[in-house]
Amino acid sequence: MEKENMSEENSLQIKRHSLSHVMAAAIKELYPEAKFAIGPAINNGFYYDIDFGDTKITTNDFKKMEKKMAYLIKQNLKFEQREENINEALKKAHDNCEIYKEELISDLKKEGQESVSIYKLGNFEDLCRGPHIDNTNKIKAGSFKLHKLAGAYWRGDENNKMLTRIYALAFEDKEGLTKHLNLIKEAEKRDHRKLGKELDLFCFSDLVGPGLPMFTPKGVVIIDELRKHIEDVCRGYGFEKVITPHLAKIDLYETSGHAKKFSDELFRVSSIKGHEFVMKPVQCPHQTQIYASKQRSYRDLPIRYMESEKQYRAEKTGEVGGLSRVYAITVEDGHSFCTVDQVKQEIVNMVKIIKEFYSALGLWGNHWVSLSVRDYSHPEKYIGEEKDWDTCERMLEEISEEMNLKAIRKEGEAALYGPKLDFMFKDSLGKEIQIPTVQVDFATPKRFNLVYTDKNGQEQSPVMVHRAILGSYERFLSLLIEHFAGAFPIWLSPVQVKLISVSENHSEACHNISDKFKSENIRVEIDDSNETVGNKIRKATQEKIPYLLVIGDKEADGKMLSVRERGSADTKEISTTDFISKVKEEIENKKV
Ligand SMILES: [Zn+2]
Ligand SMILES: [Zn+2]
Repeated sequence: MEKENMSEENSLQIKRHSLSHVMAAAIKELYPEAKFAIGPAINNGFYYDIDFGDTKITTNDFKKMEKKMAYLIKQNLKFEQREENINEALKKAHDNCEIYKEELISDLKKEGQESVSIYKLGNFEDLCRGPHIDNTNKIKAGSFKLHKLAGAYWRGDENNKMLTRIYALAFEDKEGLTKHLNLIKEAEKRDHRKLGKELDLFCFSDLVGPGLPMFTPKGVVIIDELRKHIEDVCRGYGFEKVITPHLAKIDLYETSGHAKKFSDELFRVSSIKGHEFVMKPVQCPHQTQIYASKQRSYRDLPIRYMESEKQYRAEKTGEVGGLSRVYAITVEDGHSFCTVDQVKQEIVNMVKIIKEFYSALGLWGNHWVSLSVRDYSHPEKYIGEEKDWDTCERMLEEISEEMNLKAIRKEGEAALYGPKLDFMFKDSLGKEIQIPTVQVDFATPKRFNLVYTDKNGQEQSPVMVHRAILGSYERFLSLLIEHFAGAFPIWLSPVQVKLISVSENHSEACHNISDKFKSENIRVEIDDSNETVGNKIRKATQEKIPYLLVIGDKEADGKMLSVRERGSADTKEISTTDFISKVKEEIENKKV
């Protein structure tokens, strides 16, 4: 079954690449001066890098190119291959001023090749190894579309000329293309940069700097709810909260190994009084020092710490207006320090935590698990002893079996210090996101000389188990915004209920009802502005608030309410008491 899919995918890639020849042939007819570089198939389509000389190409030119392509396809042109003597091919490319092809052929000659493969399509010839479809009649009408333009340096080298890259989308048929175009449209609508602004969740300031988002009151409501949820779940498994400073001496990271790993990503802080610090790039090393602050006995273990604190990495460039790449991220991090015998139970607990957390977002079930193990042919890439690695990998396999995780073994995906379980979720547009991870680490405790006294009074090294549940709040929020398209589950919604006054006379009633909701810990907002009810409803709908309540004469006494649920145009009558208990129950149960 899988094999069949793969060959289907392969045949689509061949079609996509063949279309790049068709596009080049069409462009050669429209722009005889154009010179061609390379035109591979890519995800969802293909591109071709072309030198248009002095002619400036815009997306307005796409229509005539597509028309010409459709015309050529209708001629049922054959892809005809022939081998050509490399010197002849070189001369031909030179005579035709195909400077890029000339360079490619000359490289092949240097490699010792004596002939090259040429494909002919109608009047258009191109250097190519293939494979292609045999005839353009294999391409269905409406199955492709020129998509966008970009600049691309010849051979990716910025000292070379910048060529015009034309990207195209191509699928098996028109339906496939339409489906993909709809997906793109939907993704644009859900873009967290756009929705984050519309829903007023975070902002940026030029004075603060790029890559440094600030969260508005509404954004913080979501972050606080996520934090509360994760901490509640983790407390149930014995985690205790700690707080560590954002600065540390470089020595801490030299001991942990992070100074080397993040050398160009460290923010260094110094003062005129002689302070020299780095902003913490990770949380783990600080937590080892809380463990090390006291004598530990086997009776104390496991010791489990968690924190939600900022960490800092000097990434190359901050992504403009977005949360995906920022300099300061708030990371929810946790570690368990335990004995070798306790490791398995600790991992089992962490998997249960991940399950509980993601279930409340409706994401559990739509995931797969990677059992990320060593690259056995490159043991030098890892630290720690081989027998520890063997033990851990076997343990993770047992856990996968016992918990029915159906983990897929991925060689070479382990962390520097140990194997791990990685969880991959799919968002509502089918995009895969990897966030939670559970990692076993024998090495870090040894580097920091962490010890505990065992039953016989001997000093032993504890094992450290790292776990991340949501990763960073910044990235997680961006994913949630896009997954829910801004329509968050009620427990996460910054405003859970909105009251809309019919006229000025109903403003006081709104405030009375609002007070009642507030005393029940329901987040409520009032719109008693001087606009029409229709406008106010439209605005609240755009804010994606779970419940809208229109307050007029009938509702003014606060006994009965007219409720409009998100996603529905109907209004339902319900008593205030019943409505409050319904909403509270949905919040409590984290209804998705
Ligand atoms: Zn080709
Ligand atoms: Zn860690």
